[in-house]
Amino acid sequence: MSREFSSEFPKILRRVVQEVVSAGDLVSSLDIIVEQVQKEMHTQVCSVYLLNEARQKYVFMATRGLNAKAVGVLTLDVDEGLVGLVGERAEPVNLEDAQSHPRNRFFEELGEDPFHSFLGVPIIHQRSLLGVLVVQQSEARRFDESEEAFLVTLSAQLAGVIAHAKATGDLSLTTSEQPSRDVRGLSGAPGIGFGTAVVVYPKADLGSVPTRKVSDIESEKIAFTEAVNETREEIREFSNHLESQLQPGELALFDAYLNILDDNEIAGEVKTVIDQGNWAAGALRQVIEAHVANFESMEDEYLRERGADVRDLGVRVLAKLQSADVRLINYPKDTVLVGEELTATDLASVASEKLKGFVSVRGSANSHVAILAEAMGVPAVMGVENLSTQWMEGKSVVVDGFSGSVVVNPGKDHIAYYENIVKEEAELVDGLGDLADQPCVTTDGHRIQLWVNTGLITDVARSLGRGAEGVGLYRTEVHFMMNDRFPTEEEQRIIYREHLQAFDPRPVTMRTLDIGGDKSLPYFPIEEDNPFLGWRGIRVTLDHREIFIAQVRAMIEANEGIDNDLRIMLPMVTSIAEIDEAQRLISRCYREIVEEGTEVEMPDVGVMIEVPAAVYQAQDIAKRVDFLSVGSNDLIQYMLAVDRNNAQVAELYQEFHPAVLQALKNVADAAHAEGKPVSICGEMAGSPSAALLLMAMNYDILSMNATNLLMVKWALTSFSMAKAQEILNKVLQMDNAYLIKNYVDNELRQAGLGRVVRAR
Ligand code: PEP
Ligand code: MG
Repeated sequence: MSREFSSEFPKILRRVVQEVVSAGDLVSSLDIIVEQVQKEMHTQVCSVYLLNEARQKYVFMATRGLNAKAVGVLTLDVDEGLVGLVGERAEPVNLEDAQSHPRNRFFEELGEDPFHSFLGVPIIHQRSLLGVLVVQQSEARRFDESEEAFLVTLSAQLAGVIAHAKATGDLSLTTSEQPSRDVRGLSGAPGIGFGTAVVVYPKADLGSVPTRKVSDIESEKIAFTEAVNETREEIREFSNHLESQLQPGELALFDAYLNILDDNEIAGEVKTVIDQGNWAAGALRQVIEAHVANFESMEDEYLRERGADVRDLGVRVLAKLQSADVRLINYPKDTVLVGEELTATDLASVASEKLKGFVSVRGSANSHVAILAEAMGVPAVMGVENLSTQWMEGKSVVVDGFSGSVVVNPGKDHIAYYENIVKEEAELVDGLGDLADQPCVTTDGHRIQLWVNTGLITDVARSLGRGAEGVGLYRTEVHFMMNDRFPTEEEQRIIYREHLQAFDPRPVTMRTLDIGGDKSLPYFPIEEDNPFLGWRGIRVTLDHREIFIAQVRAMIEANEGIDNDLRIMLPMVTSIAEIDEAQRLISRCYREIVEEGTEVEMPDVGVMIEVPAAVYQAQDIAKRVDFLSVGSNDLIQYMLAVDRNNAQVAELYQEFHPAVLQALKNVADAAHAEGKPVSICGEMAGSPSAALLLMAMNYDILSMNATNLLMVKWALTSFSMAKAQEILNKVLQMDNAYLIKNYVDNELRQAGLGRVVRAR
């Protein structure tokens, strides 16, 4: 390969990748790959073999130079031939004379007889082998280093595209018989949900507009024409406004914009797509994306940038369409919400009896929205990065929140398989029903309290039904997130009172507003580069005392005449000064309320331990407050430097990390050294294996999602405290999170609790 070719690498790579991205389906993507590689590398053959994991076979998927009739028909065993060798080694195999290699296999149906030189590179995405990309040449020569480097780089860049296309490629309006697809993500909330996908997408985000079938084509066309006319009008106004400030050449750009919106151009194409049954917004997305991809694949930089203009126009028209669109989403009775980044508001917008599942392309099990889904008993799968939401609308899906996968267009076998799991789960929960009224006491008489985490009033029935002895964390921000402005003191008082009354006489721990990080209020945007290290929790409310004071007053007033203990809890505390200041404000609120004539008790005040600094100061903190409560979701993210929302690093988010366990034990010891109770309200309290260790550490209260409460109770009451402590002592000597988790899980299995281990 010539020097010139090497210097052209980046350009060629970019062009090939862009063409592949815009191909739209897997088969066309692969076809473009082989065509372009053959052309650019001047080889006689280029082929792609994709691994079919279920069948453990390579499928011959695309070729230039070999027998095209074998495409989609010929399969190879995973250990067969040189292709198998590339896959096994997971590295390039570069041979001058492939014919003499012991692993070479001759496939008559491929017609590959005359080729001697062979270069095969694996296609790997996120550590899994997707297939093998091969080039061949009839002369016996070794491909040089630059050729190998080119193919390896191309394969690495294409791996993501192929993974994505593999997961989504065939899902289009035009395919009537659609195959089932199993798309993997992360377990967000346990359970199995069957339903119909409803795609939720942010407004004016063209890329995420789903394809949606419509029958009233004429209305769509009228809406589209109106949106285009309004956009044209807007552009004319801009142009007039800027006339005196711009050069004629620059003003011509607006004319170009107007032309693009002409019926002979993009507008006409959009109408053709609407005629095929797609709604206006979906048709607009489809046409604009095709044009943008076309522009972006151009070599000329000026033309490449015109792609951005077309996208901008598309967004403008979309905004007009959306502002005119007053149709309310008609949620089917088996709704599965699907979106790029779903929020708590999306969850709350569907009536709970209709919501069967929840699928988010971004986020992980520790994202707040997944925690809420779990609290509501809605199966959720997060971080499904290979899911193209655009094609999902109306599809039949199964959400497997246990293993973290989504089956699109499930077949009969899938349905039967998942129905069986549902049956087993129901048996498990029914079997545990009797435990609800019993206290959580170990076989040797140790008593531990099991409380619940709540956020919505709908959590109440489930919590009480499962025997919750108190609320360890009421996430007040959920109510704030569902409003379109800050709720008033009185509005808050009513909601809090409802919660306190529902749990009366059980204690209720209300956390002061914990926004920032991944929890934002639509009416109070916080823009930061590092939101988790920024303005969060108590930092916000101490800067906005008016918010803090109104909330604390509402909490204290809400408890008037109710017998249960109100506990106020402060989130994201990193220093004693914050506690002193918050306590001063709480005492002031209390005094004022009493002076106003309301008879109420001073609530207990506690602090969440969720950053490493608070772990080290746990005893100083415990001296000042009435209780400590560990927020392990954040504590783990800050101790291990792992973003709790990032699916890419979800494997590194380890509850059983030795450093985390040590910190948890230190906090419990520190609280008890000051004679103060300690609880934990992060998700790990709801994992039976972790709960066993926490009980052994002497946590007084474990607060969790109602969904897990009975399983945890079953686990803890199956052990003696002495045995739990023996396990803990052993674990504290271990230095590896995986080994610790395996060890504890195994102890549970041996105690006959294998089913609860699987359920997490
Ligand atoms: C935590 O961080 O563990 C916690 C309970 O709070 P949140 O998940 O709401 O941040
Ligand atoms: Mg937290």
